[in-house]
Amino acid sequence: MMMVIMKRDATKEDMSRVKEEAKGFKLEPIEMPGEERVIIALKGDERVVTTGRFKSLPGVADVIPVNKKYKMASRDTKWADTIVDIGGGIKVGGNHQVIMAGPCAVESEKQLRDAAEVVRKQGVRILRGGAYKPRTSPYAFQGLGLEGLKLLRRVADDLDMKVVSEIMDVRKVEEVAKYTDILQVGSRNMQNYDLLLEVGKCKKPVMLKRGLGSTLEEFLLAAEYILSEGNTNVILCERGIRTFEQEVRFSINLGAVPILKGLTHLPIIVDPSHAMGRREYVTDMALASLASGSHGIIVEVHCEPEKALCDGPQALTPELFNDLVVRAKKISDAIDMPLVLFP
Ligand code: PEP
Ligand code: MN
Repeated sequence: MMMVIMKRDATKEDMSRVKEEAKGFKLEPIEMPGEERVIIALKGDERVVTTGRFKSLPGVADVIPVNKKYKMASRDTKWADTIVDIGGGIKVGGNHQVIMAGPCAVESEKQLRDAAEVVRKQGVRILRGGAYKPRTSPYAFQGLGLEGLKLLRRVADDLDMKVVSEIMDVRKVEEVAKYTDILQVGSRNMQNYDLLLEVGKCKKPVMLKRGLGSTLEEFLLAAEYILSEGNTNVILCERGIRTFEQEVRFSINLGAVPILKGLTHLPIIVDPSHAMGRREYVTDMALASLASGSHGIIVEVHCEPEKALCDGPQALTPELFNDLVVRAKKISDAIDMPLVLFP
């Protein structure tokens, strides 16, 4: 793969010319838009052509072969932060922080609406909720499926919110994309390469959760699968990894945040709910997650957690969630990454 860095004043024609030329060498051009300049990644065997061939084209500033294992995800390829536009004025990435919140699973309209209203009241506009749930046991509640997606869309629209929900099956990408704004690829599917390629073909933003036994390199290579299909709207999510420690559900790896911010331009958010597994630990680690410089957090909220069909012990109650937001603002201010909340 090589990267064609376009000049700031490159025209549409200049870019078309690069893409045409690439196709002539059987290289697939993928445009990576940036705030200041466009980069065109050329996917395929770049040995068929010298970099000089592209360097001499009008509008081209530079051409660099990328030797890193992950190429499009690398900060070496694209220096500027990727800011993923969720729509409705909501953006993830850059120099601010966001909160995504909602129940683990969609259980009923009332349960979803009650939780959504709690988080919306605090200014949160990204509603989480699983319609398709990856459960360890085949006998556990598997989610409401399509009905859950429809509920998510309805409740989110009523409250002027966006939806993030998990996609588990390559055959359901179109269905889940129809009702959601961010496709969540869960931890257990981080290395489901067919699924990664499929969500890469779709242009919806994707939130990719780190595999519970994956290294950061494997994490970035999984993101690369999505990027290499032309979907540059990828948000990474650190959610804890499995270690020898038994006192927590997963060991939250906050050190991953500054490391990833150095290695990649993609936004990185943290899920302290699945990592800690118990609500009494979630607030502290949610605050620490923001303090680590992440682009935000995703947390589980339930109005009656004792009745939850999934992950009740880690769900924040409305009181705990409200308290978290008050304190989150202070952390964000302290590290100069303002927390974006909406009236
Ligand atoms: C979830 O966020 O609903 C979930 C199942 O998380 P993870 O994939 O991180 O276990
Ligand atoms: Mn959950």
